[in-house]
Amino acid sequence: MASKSSTCMNKRGEPLTEYEFEIQAESAADYINTIYGNDLIPYDCTKCRYWHLTPKSRHTPSRTCDYCTSASGKPKSLYETRKGADRRASILAEQGTPNLRVYECPHDNGWHLTSSSW
Ligand SMILES: [Zn+2]
Ligand SMILES: [Zn+2]
Repeated sequence: MASKSSTCMNKRGEPLTEYEFEIQAESAADYINTIYGNDLIPYDCTKCRYWHLTPKSRHTPSRTCDYCTSASGKPKSLYETRKGADRRASILAEQGTPNLRVYECPHDNGWHLTSSSW
């Protein structure tokens, strides 16, 4: 059901556990939280497209912007708070996407990340 990721590591260089479906990741998080008293939640990994678990404090709530699209034409993620966007940028930087900037969405209530250097 769950396996070790071959692409994604934690800070200590250990492979993350990956789950194919959100529901699997959710039940694993429930289990770990109950047994170990952790506060983990599943997130959709942009790198491997599977699900991993992360402490809730690192979670960055976002939704899809109705107005803005990325360079590849996909809707951009809209972060509810500047703090969430900042946190997301530093998580992505750890995962190998440097030079991300946070800016306020010109059309909606929230924040975007961009890698362009304007
Ligand atoms: Zn991953
Ligand atoms: Zn937007």
